[in-house]
Amino acid sequence: MARIRSSETSPERALRSALWRLGHRYRLYSKRLAGKPDIVFGRRRVVVFIDGCFWHGCPDHYVPPRSRSDYWSAKLKINTERDARRTVELEQLGWRVVRIWECEVELELDRAVARIVAAIENDGWKPEPRWVVVSVTPLRGERERRTLRTSRAPYAEKVETRFRSFRRQGVSSRQRAC
Ligand SMILES: [Zn+2]
Repeated sequence: MARIRSSETSPERALRSALWRLGHRYRLYSKRLAGKPDIVFGRRRVVVFIDGCFWHGCPDHYVPPRSRSDYWSAKLKINTERDARRTVELEQLGWRVVRIWECEVELELDRAVARIVAAIENDGWKPEPRWVVVSVTPLRGERERRTLRTSRAPYAEKVETRFRSFRRQGVSSRQRAC
């Protein structure tokens, strides 16, 4: 995935400057770590990924493209499985992994910052459960069946049928990035 680094987009910059103001010093974008996390707090062993809603299957904003649905559905599966695998790899190496949806950064910046700070500061920190859309099957009558999975053990899955969303494909500037 030729991911274009969009660290200069304003939501991410706002997130970084909020963390900086709180006194948390980080490195950006470590190539040496699995999945190339966006923000790395080396001493505290915390990595942060800011996941674009489209590419990583945000339950609120993933809308499958209307054309080439087999291609997009395979792509979503690859991306979400890779995210889950890399999260586990990093956790096995002793990193705390915080995955934040890009929409959270754009819409709930304070909450996103609080989640990161909790991982840095709280000794008993545990990752929050997170649901990810892993597949969407179009059904007749403008309906669709979505499968969502939790991205960490204990894994859980749920299937829901709903009307297809006509919302634009999310809020993400990163949609164009890979
Ligand atoms: Zn989203």
